[in-house]
Amino acid sequence: MSAKRKLSLPAWIFIGMLAGIAVGLCFLGNPEFTTNYIKPVGTIYINLLKFLVVPVVLFSITDGVISLNDLKRVGDVGVKTFLYYLCTTAVAVVIGLALTSACKGLFAPLGDGALGDLTYEAKEAPAVMDVIVNIFPDSFFKPMVEANMLPLIVTAILLGAGILSAGEKGQKIGEIVNAMTEVIMKMMMMIIQITPIGVFCLMTNVVAVNGPKIVGTLALVIGIAYVGYILHICLVYGFSVRFLSGMKMTDFLKGMAPAMITAFTTTSSNATLPVNMECCNKLGAEPEISSFVLPLGATINMDGTAIYQAVAAIFIASCYGMELTLSQMGMVVLTATLASIGTAGVSGAGMLMLAMVLETIGLPVEGIALIAGVDKIFDMGRTTLNITGDASCAILISKLDRKKKAAKAGA
Ligand code: ASP
Repeated sequence: MSAKRKLSLPAWIFIGMLAGIAVGLCFLGNPEFTTNYIKPVGTIYINLLKFLVVPVVLFSITDGVISLNDLKRVGDVGVKTFLYYLCTTAVAVVIGLALTSACKGLFAPLGDGALGDLTYEAKEAPAVMDVIVNIFPDSFFKPMVEANMLPLIVTAILLGAGILSAGEKGQKIGEIVNAMTEVIMKMMMMIIQITPIGVFCLMTNVVAVNGPKIVGTLALVIGIAYVGYILHICLVYGFSVRFLSGMKMTDFLKGMAPAMITAFTTTSSNATLPVNMECCNKLGAEPEISSFVLPLGATINMDGTAIYQAVAAIFIASCYGMELTLSQMGMVVLTATLASIGTAGVSGAGMLMLAMVLETIGLPVEGIALIAGVDKIFDMGRTTLNITGDASCAILISKLDRKKKAAKAGA
């Protein structure tokens, strides 16, 4: 057997990432070649993943709802999942705020001159109520064509609920949905095979483009965000995985490594969804639970994004020589939690939603320009955290569901 066949896919993904860093370092200061010739190959990989996102979300959530078998169980799993997502995200914002507040003495306010020539063109941040109203689609097909995740999830849940309530006739459609899910999963497996190449190409370009920029204060803020990401994994997911789900954290992280590396390099929770499902199911999540919990999480659960928004808000405030009051911090917790729910699981979306947080607490949105240049580096970590949180939820809800089933069977 050749060496290539002996190595597992996760090992190849890891090699792809290391090789990407090494080659990227060779192109430091001269990123044109990587941007023009290597990155496009990575873009092909991301396109292929994205191409699957709408069918994966639509069919897997609908199939997840159907396989939960009764509407009460859908409601039960849905409520638990939502509560888990909401609480962990709020904790994430608090971690981000506490860490950055503790270190803010290290950020020197920038002089007027330095801030005067900021050129970030802020897109208008959506109003909170608009975010909520837009969750509910006014067309069956539009969310699919526009790959608009929140309305797509609502469509899938309603479709699943309709199929469940339609009895015998619904069953026929249910079988088709189930068969389609199987087909989509097979397509997904084919695309996942080229992950090492995609990861290599994306990593090469990130290192070549961003290498020199990560100096001084920016390196410090990035460092703080990453400490926050790691703390959140250790404290929140560590608690959930070890004490609530009863799984060794090392086993969890080992099983999750392929998905985490994919998230780190693609910077898209949506694109990572297929790999995440595969990892969770291998770790023992119930497939019907993970096909409901993970697509939902890829869209609404963004703990990494929430930490990043808290860190960025305090950093930008310090650069403008402003100090956040306690009530402003409370507003950050609220808006960053909401903003992270409204953030699409795609590359860079968290930075756009940061505008909503800054606006709510009265900070200049142009401040985003201070960190926009290295947003990719923040995004790599926050996306990794985002999908890890979804996975910890899928493992926990699966365990609770198994327990409930066993109790029912015993009764
Ligand atoms: N890239 C992140 C994700 O896909 C979203 C963000 O930009 O914060 O999870």
